[in-house]
Amino acid sequence: MTLRSTLFASCALLVTALAGAGTDIPATVTAAAHNAITRASLEAPIRFLASDDLEGRAPAARGDELAILYLATQLESMGYEPGGPKGQWQQRFDVVGVKASFPKVWSFEAGGPHSPVQLNWWDDYIAGSGVQQNQGAVDNAELVFVGYGIQAPEYRWDDFKGMDLRGKVLVMLNNDPDWDPKLFAGKRRLYYGRWSYKYESAARQGAAGAIIIHTTPSAGYPWQVVQASWSGTQFSLPDEGEPRIQVKAWATEDAMRRLVKAGGKDLDKLIAAAHSPRFKPVPLGIRTSISFTNEVSRVQTANVAGLLPGSDPKLKSEVVVFSAHHDHFGIGKPDASGDKIYHGAADNASGCAQALTIAHAFASLPQRPRRSVLILFVAAEEQGLLGSLYYALHPTIPAGKLAVDINFDTANIFGRTRDITLRSEGKSSTDQVVETVARLQGRAVIPDQFPDRGYYYRSDQFSFAKVGVPGIYLDQGFDFVGRPANWGREQREHWEETQYHQPSDRLDGTWNFDGMVDDTQLAFLSGWLIAQADAMPTWKAGDEFEAVRKKALADAKD
Ligand SMILES: [Zn+2]
Repeated sequence: MTLRSTLFASCALLVTALAGAGTDIPATVTAAAHNAITRASLEAPIRFLASDDLEGRAPAARGDELAILYLATQLESMGYEPGGPKGQWQQRFDVVGVKASFPKVWSFEAGGPHSPVQLNWWDDYIAGSGVQQNQGAVDNAELVFVGYGIQAPEYRWDDFKGMDLRGKVLVMLNNDPDWDPKLFAGKRRLYYGRWSYKYESAARQGAAGAIIIHTTPSAGYPWQVVQASWSGTQFSLPDEGEPRIQVKAWATEDAMRRLVKAGGKDLDKLIAAAHSPRFKPVPLGIRTSISFTNEVSRVQTANVAGLLPGSDPKLKSEVVVFSAHHDHFGIGKPDASGDKIYHGAADNASGCAQALTIAHAFASLPQRPRRSVLILFVAAEEQGLLGSLYYALHPTIPAGKLAVDINFDTANIFGRTRDITLRSEGKSSTDQVVETVARLQGRAVIPDQFPDRGYYYRSDQFSFAKVGVPGIYLDQGFDFVGRPANWGREQREHWEETQYHQPSDRLDGTWNFDGMVDDTQLAFLSGWLIAQADAMPTWKAGDEFEAVRKKALADAKD
């Protein structure tokens, strides 16, 4: 007997199993999952979206505009209402590209015999522009070491201690405190430990710039990755007047050791001091100026949104969101075979297909769920989660009314598994919902297999978390039916090496959809349970996003 027939042959079994969780899943709902979410309904949209004709779906390119049109018309034909602004299917927005040219040498005045200290572009420092104008500059600013640069009331941690940091260049450690399980979730990297938080945190202090000290353990990747990812055009949403720093820099540990020493300080002692919650910012006795030019470009792309109103007169104002990004990298550098189309079949035509089949499952129910369902295909994920961030900042439904975001990014293409990875594990009450449905499928839920990589912050559920919306982010299981223990991990690592973000991420005859079907049905049933529940999901007490959720809920109450 296959797993799927175990799951859906007996609805009595389903109801019994769920009675323990205080929830029933009616036979009509499991039937909808069974009928709407199949190999064919998943494969067909992938075949279209990943075809050569869509040319890799780069933001603003014709291929991605076709994908946008296709996804919107699919939702329309299923009976969804336009979920974008002003009754439209599309939420259009600009993406700003900035290509900065920084000087070969960045010079620092420390006084004393070793001054000036010079850092060389590429080997010692890498930087991006924090501003979208044609020029940026820092003028005779003082360097201040601010430890981790973190303000986290839930951990009673504030590295700034009220010091005036306006106009300064902040020198920061990467990652978050990771030596104590009670602090910042121990080894797990929270948002506080990511570079994007560091630069935003510096901007909130009114700083002129920030330099993150790179070490391979604290970044999770070597210096070459910093060089590769910061030297090209950087994309962001248009400036809306939020605080910005001029220079977002990285420097190697060696370079910073040399620089700090020239000012008479010892980097190791500074790092040791930063381990204490009583740490205070340390002026380094060093000043610097730097100016640079930017090439600025602007293109337009769109999120696609379709709404299926709920059946409960009160709860229908609350919404279960399913999201998947529709963009990829377009046409670029050819691979060894000469293929230059970045098809993005797994990443993320597969996620779009998952959301489409779930949209269809909801639309085919004889009785709508109590809460509404929003199917959201977001743009420009590969450029830094820009479409989901734009939606989160300009939601068509207030963030406090969004019950959950269930996000799809790269489905399982290797076959059926006895387990499923929950990358959002440990963060919210949605864990229990996923565990309940997984148990029904006879599967185990396992936590993120790479907790130090911070995957929760690397796809679109994170943009929702930033405005307080809990997320469910699943990844494939690793215990494959009929395969040896290590097989799944090997397949995945091989795929990451040979296909991830390469033209070879194509739909071909090697794909096995059985696991994708199971995972998508699991996500649909989890979303249905959340849409039916009396209360919306909550963050676990003390979670990094709990405070912003409370505010969003209060704002949405009006
Ligand atoms: Zn990707």
